[in-house]
Amino acid sequence: MPQVDSIYIYDAPDVLGLDIGAIGRMLSDLLPETQVETRTDFFTHQLARFKASQVEMLTEQIAARLEEREVHNLIAPQWRDEMAPIAPEERGLETVYLAEALQEVMRPLIPESERGSHHLHIVYIAQCLGQFLPDRHDLALQIVQFGEPAIVSTTGFVEAPALPREYAFRRAQLLAMGLDEALDELDDHFAASTLGYEDQRVTIVAAGHALQVLFDALFGERGCDVAACPLHQADTHEDLATAHLSEDSKLCQRHMQMLTDAGIHPRGA
Ligand SMILES: [Zn+2]
Repeated sequence: MPQVDSIYIYDAPDVLGLDIGAIGRMLSDLLPETQVETRTDFFTHQLARFKASQVEMLTEQIAARLEEREVHNLIAPQWRDEMAPIAPEERGLETVYLAEALQEVMRPLIPESERGSHHLHIVYIAQCLGQFLPDRHDLALQIVQFGEPAIVSTTGFVEAPALPREYAFRRAQLLAMGLDEALDELDDHFAASTLGYEDQRVTIVAAGHALQVLFDALFGERGCDVAACPLHQADTHEDLATAHLSEDSKLCQRHMQMLTDAGIHPRGA
C-alpha cells in the first residue's frame, strides 16, 4: 500500500497571497493519517540546523552552485552556434533555473531522517523552472519538478502556460506600439481567464499542484484527462483556470477512488 507519513511544505515568502497554511489544511483533510508540517523557505529551514560558522560557508557554497544552475541564455545549448542568445529579461523573466539542477542543489540538504518515499517535500519558489528539450530551440518553462524535493514554481503558473491566442496577439501589438497604459486595460479584460502576478487565486492553484506532487509520490500518477481535475496538466491559461479555478474543479472520481483503494479516507468525504 503506498504511503506518505509526513508532508513538509516550504513557503515562498516573497510570493504575495500564497498561503501554505491553507494548503497544509487541505492536504491534512485529504490524508488524515499523514503529518503535515509547514515551514519557512527551503534554504532557510534546512540551514537552521547548522552552526552559525557553518551556515556562512554553506550559504556561500549554495549561492555559487545556484549561480551555476541559473539560465542566462534561453536558447538550447545545441542551437547556440546558430541562434542569437535570448536573455530571460527579454521575455520579462527574472531568475530562471534548470529544474533538475536546482533539485540537485536542494536534495543533499534534506536530513537523512526525512528522506525516502514516506516523506514528501513540497518546495514553493518564486523563481522560474525550465528544461531544454530535444525538439525545442528554447527553454521550456515548467511549473512542477517532481521528485525529492518536489519543486513548484509559482511564477510558472503565470509564465509556463500559453496565453489565449487573442490576448498574446494584442499584447504583442500594444508592446510594439509602446502603449503601456492600454496593456493594463487588456490585462484586466483577460484577468478572469489568465492568472497574473499578485493574484489572490495563487493559493488555489498552488494547492492543486500540491495534489499533482502527492499523486506522483503515492502512485507515480501524473496528469489526468478530466479537464476540471487539478491533476490535469495545463498547456494554456484557460486549461489552468478550468483545472484549478472553475466551479467544477475537484479531484475526479477516478483519482478519489485511487485514494480510497489505498485505504485513505479524506475527512468529510
Ligand atoms: Zn483526475
